[in-house]
Amino acid sequence: MKRFKGKGAYGALALGKAFVLDKTDDTKVRRVRIDDTHKELRRLEKARGAALAELDEIYEKALLEVGQTGAQIFEIHKMMLEDEDYYSAIENTVKIQMVNAEYAVSVASKSFSSMFENMDDSYMQARASDIIDISNRLISCLMNKEKTDIIQGEPVIICARDLAPSETVTLDKSNIRGFLTSCGSVNSHTSILARNMGIPAIIGLGEDFLSSVKSGDTVTINGYTGEVTVCPDENELDNFKMLIKKDEEKKSLLEALRGKESATIDGKAVKLYANIGGVNDLGAVLYNDADGIGLFRSEFIYLEKDTYPTEQEQFEIYKRVAESMGKRTVIIRTLDIGADKQVEYFGLEREENPALGYRAIRICLDRPKLFKTQLRAIFRASVFGNLSIMFPMIASVWEAKAALSICDEVKAELQSEGIIYARDIEIGIMIETPAAAIISDELAPLVDFFSIGTNDLTQYTLACDRQNPLLEKYAAPHHKSILRLIDYTVKSAHKHGKWVGICGELASDTTLTEEFLKMGVDELSVSPSYVLPVRKAIREIDLSK
Ligand code: PEP
Ligand code: MG
Repeated sequence: MKRFKGKGAYGALALGKAFVLDKTDDTKVRRVRIDDTHKELRRLEKARGAALAELDEIYEKALLEVGQTGAQIFEIHKMMLEDEDYYSAIENTVKIQMVNAEYAVSVASKSFSSMFENMDDSYMQARASDIIDISNRLISCLMNKEKTDIIQGEPVIICARDLAPSETVTLDKSNIRGFLTSCGSVNSHTSILARNMGIPAIIGLGEDFLSSVKSGDTVTINGYTGEVTVCPDENELDNFKMLIKKDEEKKSLLEALRGKESATIDGKAVKLYANIGGVNDLGAVLYNDADGIGLFRSEFIYLEKDTYPTEQEQFEIYKRVAESMGKRTVIIRTLDIGADKQVEYFGLEREENPALGYRAIRICLDRPKLFKTQLRAIFRASVFGNLSIMFPMIASVWEAKAALSICDEVKAELQSEGIIYARDIEIGIMIETPAAAIISDELAPLVDFFSIGTNDLTQYTLACDRQNPLLEKYAAPHHKSILRLIDYTVKSAHKHGKWVGICGELASDTTLTEEFLKMGVDELSVSPSYVLPVRKAIREIDLSK
């Protein structure tokens, strides 16, 4: 039995079998000189056959789960793997340099991916990541590594060094019982995704963790304390099962709060909304009885794809969310790509300081066509429910005005095309830069509401990159500066008759619920699994005392 301690990204318990996600990348491939090139080429051909068979299998699975359009990428991968130029480049390296096939694949991967990256067409640029993907698959087959996309059978606990948001969204959640990573930070989007999905997760388990666990090992996860045991002994296992039982009892008590009002003892009603990353989270929102959706991180629609989602594709998604929530509010946050949420096909330059870089509204204002496509889809879907729009990363008055004026253009275009949309759609902004909080009195008259993004507000106010685990003790979201900025933002909004919510992770911190309500916060938007705990906290508060 081995014990590890990390940070709980989502408080819940899990017991299951480990699945070690060993992400083969070509940087780990060593160059080995070989004598028998024929033998090496036969090994290569066998690995290619195995990789093609894997792709067939994944294609069939994807067809059932995500339909023809979603599955198409695996057909493209097959074609690329069979491409004459790519394959003969690998063969030639083996023959001429007399080196191992893994190394030859990694050379081809680098040269073909950089060739695609340097093309003008953004579609072709995006193929660079496909080259890397198929090459890694081929290398994995040569090395007989386990694959991430064929997690089958009983649900598993994913153990990885780290997970990018794009990887987390593409994993098949129905087969995942927990996430464990040696790196990572609590406020990273991967941790947020785990919370949204209600999956127990512990991050920052340290470098030794991965070498101490292998696929198939029994693992216990205590997301409340950050404790993990690998191969627990009988005694530990019994204690853990008792803990699970108690946790379930606690959860069923919370379930009694479904259908109850989110109001304090003295009658102040609070809008208690949920944060989502996509349609897959709707079930959890409805199950946990959220009063609405306070943050739909729409960029995940872009992260899940290999090319820009069309207006129609987005429309279908927003329509589905609007319809599922009926009369309840759904706030769609416009594209917040950049920083840790990178999408290859956007062709963004690498940055020294991505968190302080080109992201969110900054990209949308520079690429009005991209922005308008999303806005058109939202406006069109607005007649199917109760949608609102909000812009991320606003720092200046001119940015809010520019975004609003693009909305006006979109409305005028739809009108002239005879397309209907909800006339009373509310438009708000996120307050997640200190600048926006400080000038919130000037921003309030422009919009219908504010939603405070405490994750970014904390990172920018305290100068702590939210991705950097070393900074967690400095990035204290309870810091007076953050609470004062929230307080000032609420005052500014109310002075102008606007409502204000909090949609960052701090909204689910029940030690602050009373303080937020005393400040006058009107809405709290939390991961679906935190709706009922926060409702419980609200219902125990008496503001008249
Ligand atoms: C925030 O910054 O608090 C927020 C809600 O947005 P995100 O976490 O997606 O950056
Ligand atoms: Mg943010």
